[in-house]
Amino acid sequence: RGKLYIVATPIGNLEDISQRAIRILNEVALIAAEDTRHSQKLLSHYQIGTRLLSLHEHNERQRADQLLSKLGNGMDLALISDAGTPLISDPGYALVNLCREAGIDVIPIPGPCAAITALCAAGLPTDKFSFKGFLPVKEMARREALGALKGDSGTCIFYEAPRRIADTVKMLVEELGPHRQLVLAKELTKTFETFKSGDAEQVLAWLLEDPLHQKGEFVLMVGPDLNVNESLPQQALDLLDSLLEVLP
Ligand code: SAM
Repeated sequence: RGKLYIVATPIGNLEDISQRAIRILNEVALIAAEDTRHSQKLLSHYQIGTRLLSLHEHNERQRADQLLSKLGNGMDLALISDAGTPLISDPGYALVNLCREAGIDVIPIPGPCAAITALCAAGLPTDKFSFKGFLPVKEMARREALGALKGDSGTCIFYEAPRRIADTVKMLVEELGPHRQLVLAKELTKTFETFKSGDAEQVLAWLLEDPLHQKGEFVLMVGPDLNVNESLPQQALDLLDSLLEVLP
């Protein structure tokens, strides 16, 4: 049986790829990639001649079956995405799940991931964090997802599209108030890498002050709710609130 390698690739800076990743991409029989044209540029840069095959959102189920039979026939394969770690807000889950069920070895080759790259330099607490992927596009659902961060005692990490970033931060101010601590990590590992931190109101003002501030790729990080008293469970806090209301 073959092995499936899950290979992380750069998120901007082409130097961010491991020697092991380059060796594996050279050695496998086939590389499944989200966008073969995009990934061909990466492979050419490292002079890797391995054949590419597309595996994206829309053909993943069907491709997964094909790839599984190749693995069953003893072929080693690699999966990459357009940037960063495959499966992290990227395709590959169906394939990895099928492989695990079929007893095929799945071997991760670690490397860049925008969420972790952003978090480790943001200056927000890192002892407890949750990665929430992309926010819903529909306004009501997005508002609800942001409102749910009330009372969250860890750092929350989101991916957000540039065309929605200002809107999302505005919604965040409305749902969580102007003073929740935020950090925007923009264009990570690229020439114009920028970290902008402040409270929600300040970060919104920065986004609106120059259209260029809204361009590029973003990771949005929301700091813990500092009003949460971790020593008491939420139920006890709710009870305290209602008692305070009735006290003279
Ligand atoms: N699999 C990738 C990873 O490991 O981070 C994420 C893929 S997801 C489709 C793309 C999103 O990741 C972008 O919309 C942006 O939110 C974030 N992202 C990717 N590269 C980035 C970068 N260089 N700087 C900031 N955010 C980035």
